[in-house]
Amino acid sequence: MEEYRIPKTMKAMTLTAYDHLEMAELPVPQPGPGEVLCRIRSVAICGSDPKMIHGGYKFANWPPYYPFVMGHEWAGEVVALGEGVDSWKVGDRVAGEAHHGCGDCDNCKRGHYTVCLNYGKDGHDGGLDTGHRHYGFYWQGANAEYNVYKAAVLHRIPDNVSFDAASMCDCAGVAMHGVELAGVTPGGTSVVIGPGAIGLNAMMECKALGSGRVIMIGRGAKLEKAREMGADICIDFEKEDPVARVLELTNGIGADEVMECSGAKDSPYKACQMVRKTGSVAIIATYHDGDVLIPANTVNFNEIHIVGSKANPNVSDKVLHFMSTGAIRAEELITHRFPLEEYEKAVDIFEHKKEGSVKVVINP
Ligand SMILES: [Zn+2]
Ligand SMILES: [Zn+2]
Repeated sequence: MEEYRIPKTMKAMTLTAYDHLEMAELPVPQPGPGEVLCRIRSVAICGSDPKMIHGGYKFANWPPYYPFVMGHEWAGEVVALGEGVDSWKVGDRVAGEAHHGCGDCDNCKRGHYTVCLNYGKDGHDGGLDTGHRHYGFYWQGANAEYNVYKAAVLHRIPDNVSFDAASMCDCAGVAMHGVELAGVTPGGTSVVIGPGAIGLNAMMECKALGSGRVIMIGRGAKLEKAREMGADICIDFEKEDPVARVLELTNGIGADEVMECSGAKDSPYKACQMVRKTGSVAIIATYHDGDVLIPANTVNFNEIHIVGSKANPNVSDKVLHFMSTGAIRAEELITHRFPLEEYEKAVDIFEHKKEGSVKVVINP
């Protein structure tokens, strides 16, 4: 095992108050039992990051304290092992998940660890530590040179996948969980609403799982990106009615499954109108101004399966495999790269969709 010199302190980008970011020199955290220390190589900015910076998650108590290190879509290397960790060795290339369940509650036992019933009981406030972690939201994240993780959240990066691409593991996984819950009909018609990073991943995953054709619904540069990346049919909702168009393309029957990745408030309603009788709708997006309507009568009459999809449980190895085979072309989603010092600029370009940005990656 090669020797790796770990410094005492590290650079980290911290949130010190809403809308206030500061570079800081923090102690490098020590891995406890069952944990590993990782050198962070790539962190992708997520749609939730600017929202958290602006105080949009007060209701969820994210972040739980200041100064707080955000960042949850990351890839890097294992540099030190805590007591009892034998599944990893120093030098392993890994991508991490944001959620670590307590492992003990009913939901965790059933594999649903992103909806752990002990959410937030991580001991950071001196209370009980059940082992639950939500890195970058409720526990220190990856916008730093190093961070400590529970060994179970790590996944091996295939040799031919770069750190930058592997930092899309979380985002591709969020799409994959929804795609799995909805189910892809081999040879069928899948619709993805919202061609952002998650929607583009969902599009590639539907194809990888055997969809006959993927219809993308969106507008502007992002819809163009979907076309470039292989969408079979693109519908610009500013130019035509997406429900009428999908029905027309399917002889009035409707799509086999719809992945709602847009977060637009009328999209879940439209998704239910464009899916076939007994088809599925996955709600992968979240809605910024609170709950939105679904057409309950249509859902009833047509026996539509609606599934809510939260985060990315049990899918990381699958998406890393698809990155390795080329089925998920993660590198093509990355439009910008910045060092940690330029995080604020990177967030601005990402948040305001400047310069055709899709995914922006930080290299600490
Ligand atoms: Zn994310
Ligand atoms: Zn749990």
